[in-house]
Amino acid sequence: MFKKNQTRAARICGLLATLLLSAGTHAAGDRHQHGASQLEVSIESNALTLQWDSPLNDLIGFEHAPRTAQQKATAQKLLKTLQDPTSFSVPNTEAQCSVVSVSVQAPSLAPVQGKANTKAGHGLDDAHSALAYAVRYSCKKVGALRTLSLNAFKTWPSIQEIDIALAGPGGQAAQEAKPNAARVELRAVAAPKR
Ligand SMILES: [Zn+2]
Repeated sequence: MFKKNQTRAARICGLLATLLLSAGTHAAGDRHQHGASQLEVSIESNALTLQWDSPLNDLIGFEHAPRTAQQKATAQKLLKTLQDPTSFSVPNTEAQCSVVSVSVQAPSLAPVQGKANTKAGHGLDDAHSALAYAVRYSCKKVGALRTLSLNAFKTWPSIQEIDIALAGPGGQAAQEAKPNAARVELRAVAAPKR
């Protein structure tokens, strides 16, 4: 079902992009506040890794399994958009980062196709559900990482804030991004403290 997107994703990423629609449950879906999402950013060796948990409501306006044709199309569009990591964020170019992998987990959007998870949709209708999105970059000049521009605020205007936890050679930090401050400052954690 995603085959038509693969050439595009491959062109953008130049590398492997995987879409994982797990039928399993994700803890982040249990309780969340609409408009607010959590992002973990870690820098280790030459790898920049992002893990983003967002209420599905902020991305598509509903959190139940898609029922109508319009909802199904909306869900498909979201999954397609997420295949291009620039829809979420872009590291500063000086660091020369390239995408290594992309993973999407959105259990409530997983198609129910007579597998063992036929009951996956049951019980999710009135519950909150979230998206877990992971992007891994390899950066040639990891010490040159400065900012991560969060295009997510433009791609999904319902997002009001992203709470960020950073970890890297320079230590740990917490930040908050908003539509008018749509970036992660990587400087403090990207390089070891002197
Ligand atoms: Zn919710």
